[in-house]
Amino acid sequence: MTNSEFLRETCYVNGKWIDAADTRIEVNNPATGEIIGSVPRFGRAETASAIASAATAFTKWSALPAAARADYCLRFAQALMDHQDALGRLLTIEMGKPLAEAKGEVAYAASFFKWFGEEARRVYGDLIPSPWTDKRIVVSKMPVGVVGSITPWNFPTAMIARKAAAAMAAGCTIVCKPASQTPFSALAYGVIADEIGLPPGVLSVITGSAAQIADEMCENPKLRKITFTGSTEIGKQLASKASAHMKRVSMELGGNAPFIVFEDADLDKAVQGALASKYRNSGQTCVCANRFYVQSSVYDAFAEKLVTAVKAMKIGDGLEDGIEQGPLIDEPAVTKVEEHIADATGKGAKLVLGGKRHDKGLTFFEPTILTGVTNDMAVAKEETFGPLAPLFSFETEDEVLGYANDTEYGLACYFYTNDLGRAWRVMEGLEYGIVGVNEGIISTEVAPFGGVKDSGMGREGSKYGLEDYLDVKYALMGGLGK
Ligand code: NAP
Repeated sequence: MTNSEFLRETCYVNGKWIDAADTRIEVNNPATGEIIGSVPRFGRAETASAIASAATAFTKWSALPAAARADYCLRFAQALMDHQDALGRLLTIEMGKPLAEAKGEVAYAASFFKWFGEEARRVYGDLIPSPWTDKRIVVSKMPVGVVGSITPWNFPTAMIARKAAAAMAAGCTIVCKPASQTPFSALAYGVIADEIGLPPGVLSVITGSAAQIADEMCENPKLRKITFTGSTEIGKQLASKASAHMKRVSMELGGNAPFIVFEDADLDKAVQGALASKYRNSGQTCVCANRFYVQSSVYDAFAEKLVTAVKAMKIGDGLEDGIEQGPLIDEPAVTKVEEHIADATGKGAKLVLGGKRHDKGLTFFEPTILTGVTNDMAVAKEETFGPLAPLFSFETEDEVLGYANDTEYGLACYFYTNDLGRAWRVMEGLEYGIVGVNEGIISTEVAPFGGVKDSGMGREGSKYGLEDYLDVKYALMGGLGK
């Protein structure tokens, strides 16, 4: 793998591969502990230079006909799919997710370039009926300008795609800073940009000090918008700094998703949904079910079926055949899962499956299920971000809606019922940006992805995702009388 043409150890700025850093960041494979390579630790000066080249590129890029930008996006999508296998392997090696999931993520990333490539040609304005006979009111959409993106390690390819594709389609240029634990999938975007002949400066990828890069993005007047995916804690700091300089922001932050199983649900489908929503990416997704609320009359039956299904999961290095759960990203991630288990069992929860580090060592952890979980336990309030399913019990619809909404987060939630009236009532009552009704996987490029409350602001994907990269311009065309 280390001779993959996609593994680049320099940054991609203004169409060139550069390395001006004094120090470097090493990247490891969480499944083996091996060092795969290293990337430059850039700071403010290099960030400023990347922003300057993005600002220069913006003039020509934003003036291109939408059809030309669309064409670049569609070629980007095709190139990602042409290299799906190599990019998927790179992703698995630096992040740990099973290869099938990694290749799925590459396809998901490509779908955003395709979708926004198609949408690029449909950025319409308005002609508003005028209150005057000699004046016309014209509304058009303008790209916001140079965008800075900061993304996490859990979806190193897809999180960039949701931002970069929308930005490029809208006519913006973008400087991307990936997570330091997974920079190679991001730098691979530079290889793709080269391959399709993307004009220099339209998309740059820099690695390095998160705080310094973020400070430069917030304070540099040439950069007009910051788009961030990551923890609520960092998102709040960043939004506050960005607002001091009146930058637009999009914030895709943490979640604490409830997964509700009503007694009238199809339990087998609910178990399938639970598996997908909880254990995908080893439980490290922002939309992972974090709290399972099961109606008391079906609690034991659901728990038993879930234990049977989870027991069958195959754990190991994501590059091996048939693996369904890889390692966690690092040691602190494992510690957090252990803390949540210890807190819950200390307060009376029962461990019915897993509960400890996997005998494969490193950061592998057994898929875990707890029963008898109550609202005073840490798992009720905090995002675990690991393969732990805590099962709470409830009696009534009103009661569970109260539990589900009793959180500062509001990203994704799920529930299973076969009662049509209940489906509508509960869907409308849940204070979340995304609701899965009898579905455990909700992501698609054609739907708006994003949260409310402390889960952030803005939407990615869909027609709404493009709006996040556009400003509204109103022109009053006067002097039209004879
Ligand atoms: P994180 O610690 O917030 O890191 C995310 C990114 O922020 C990384 O690129 C990181 O860079 C950077 N960063 C760190 N310190 C910073 C600072 N002071 N200023 C600016 N940027 C800084 O989050 P994480 O633990 O990697 O990711 C998991 C979190 O992301 C979870 O809460 C999850 O729910 C959330 N998430 C949300 C979505 C969504 O769409 N809503 C999607 C995926 C994940 P370094 O790596 O260099 O430190």
